[in-house]
Amino acid sequence: MQLLSSQNRDQLLEQLANTKFDLLIIGGGITGAGIALDATTRGLKVALIEKNDFASGTSSKSTKLIHGGLRYLKQFEVKLVREVGKERAIVHKLAPHLVKPEKMLLPLIQGGTYGPLMTSVGLWVYDFLADVKGKDKRKMLSAKDTLKQEPLLEVQKSALKGSGYYAEYRTDDARLTMENLKTAVSKGAFVANYVKGVSFQKNDSGQVEALHCQDELNGGEFTIQADFIVSAAGPWVDTIREEDRSLKGKKLFLSKGVHIVVPRERFPIQQAIYFDVPDGRMIFAIPRLRVTYIGTTDTPYDGDSNNIPILKEDIDYLLEATNNMFPNINLQESDIESSWAGLRPLIYEEGKSASEMSRKDEIFESNSGLISIAGGKLTGYRKMAERIVDLVGKKFEELKGVSLSACQTKNIPLTGGPFQNDQEVDDLILSYTEMLKPFKLGSETAAYLVANYGKQTEAIIELLSKEFQGNNPHNALARAEAYFCINNEQAQKLTDFYDRRTGRLYFNLPSIEPTTEAVIDVFASELGWSDTRIQKELEELNQAIYVVAKAFKSSSAQAV
Ligand code: FAD
Repeated sequence: MQLLSSQNRDQLLEQLANTKFDLLIIGGGITGAGIALDATTRGLKVALIEKNDFASGTSSKSTKLIHGGLRYLKQFEVKLVREVGKERAIVHKLAPHLVKPEKMLLPLIQGGTYGPLMTSVGLWVYDFLADVKGKDKRKMLSAKDTLKQEPLLEVQKSALKGSGYYAEYRTDDARLTMENLKTAVSKGAFVANYVKGVSFQKNDSGQVEALHCQDELNGGEFTIQADFIVSAAGPWVDTIREEDRSLKGKKLFLSKGVHIVVPRERFPIQQAIYFDVPDGRMIFAIPRLRVTYIGTTDTPYDGDSNNIPILKEDIDYLLEATNNMFPNINLQESDIESSWAGLRPLIYEEGKSASEMSRKDEIFESNSGLISIAGGKLTGYRKMAERIVDLVGKKFEELKGVSLSACQTKNIPLTGGPFQNDQEVDDLILSYTEMLKPFKLGSETAAYLVANYGKQTEAIIELLSKEFQGNNPHNALARAEAYFCINNEQAQKLTDFYDRRTGRLYFNLPSIEPTTEAVIDVFASELGWSDTRIQKELEELNQAIYVVAKAFKSSSAQAV
């Protein structure tokens, strides 16, 4: 079985340069990862390149919900809600440690966006479209039961009319991308981060036949040959269509979404809440181990897609919205521990605002044969991949006379599993809690490890037992995770580790500084880093911390 290791990069890039692939995918976000898995398991020889780290684009910046998108019902997006609604249960089954059921509470406040009747009917339709069954079906709660569910709403008591209580799922978008990529690699895909697709090579009839690439880590250029090239470049899809000279007709519209993270004790909600903002929008507040995160904004963006600023006005919007619903909490800018900003790659629709624009995915086929996919949701990645591979499969059959099998991914558990059900996940947390006791680590660590790595936690605990000697437990754990991520998840940089592999940059920022030295030590020994490289890595990590935790405090630039 192939591994997604950082150790064999030279060999991997050589293989990419010297193999003729059936399919080359540009972009290692969830869309590209899903396509890689689907295509590989249908028998295609697949390569995927990512210009930065995997999931470093939108796929680590979402609200991290596997959800049907209740609000799209208001826009009559019935087909979209039906598809992604049904996908929730499938993606949950594929990785129950990573996609966990999360009941959502929608409080109904006097004068709010929806009344009890509208909410009840809306949630019924939502459940019906997604085929939600049994105890997961929506319930309408009285004001009294709502307060039992979420005592922090006590402050709204006189205006509280009750709530809708319905089923959703939460995940970690970057980890979901990672596990799709790892599963694809275990089935034979060739996958590399820090490789940028720069320009196309076309044959005499103008058809794309190869992609000239740049090694963004060590420098150097090479070319990847493929019968078909798919661009799953998210917010950069139009940049690539421009390079292909096929940017006409429908175009992308980028909408920025910001989230903020506060310590759980400053906003101690008991469960996920979807609540009204005075401007008519709604936002989520979601508890996650030691923190609560809140989001999102939805504003047009035409700045640099590689560097998305979090502005003071974004922060103020989220703080005001939260304090409007929970005035007793009185969240302040100084409570914000971390934050993130991402871009929704939407398909432009004349006359609509950012939040009104459809979240549907769309496929563009250019005269050169380049196929691009944009729009869509994290939740719908598997169906998006199926559509793309069906299309590639038709063309493959025309070219080679070989037909591909039907999509298999519904039945392929992701790495970290398989699990029979949620109970097995809970049992595993209990069993790892016991195994972690000798290392002075508790149940919260076990829950974090299982959510992040599933059954792969066992390999991390094995590494931990070697690292524990003489190290404090938290450093030993960080070292064990670093070994695992370098050798199994192509972590190339400190930021890959602290951001996309472990989520510490957002959800456990205070754990970074005390563990940095230990983690650098592992990276340096595993990847042969020089002092200059260590210095560069530290600067990049400090910059990343500054961006999520501090930059907005001095930023009041105009929203673009
Ligand atoms: P990306 O993740 O952006 O991946 C594209 C990749 O292509 C990038 O990593 C980029 O570096 C790479 N790339 C670009 N150019 C090149 C090149 N030349 N060579 C090589 N690589 C290249 N959906 C949900 O289902 N649930 C949610 O809760 C949710 N919340 C959201 C909240 C926000 C604020 C936002 C912005 C989106 C949210 N979404 C949600 C939508 C979801 O996050 C996106 O639909 C999804 O992540 C898009 O993934 P992608 O792979 O298409 O794009």
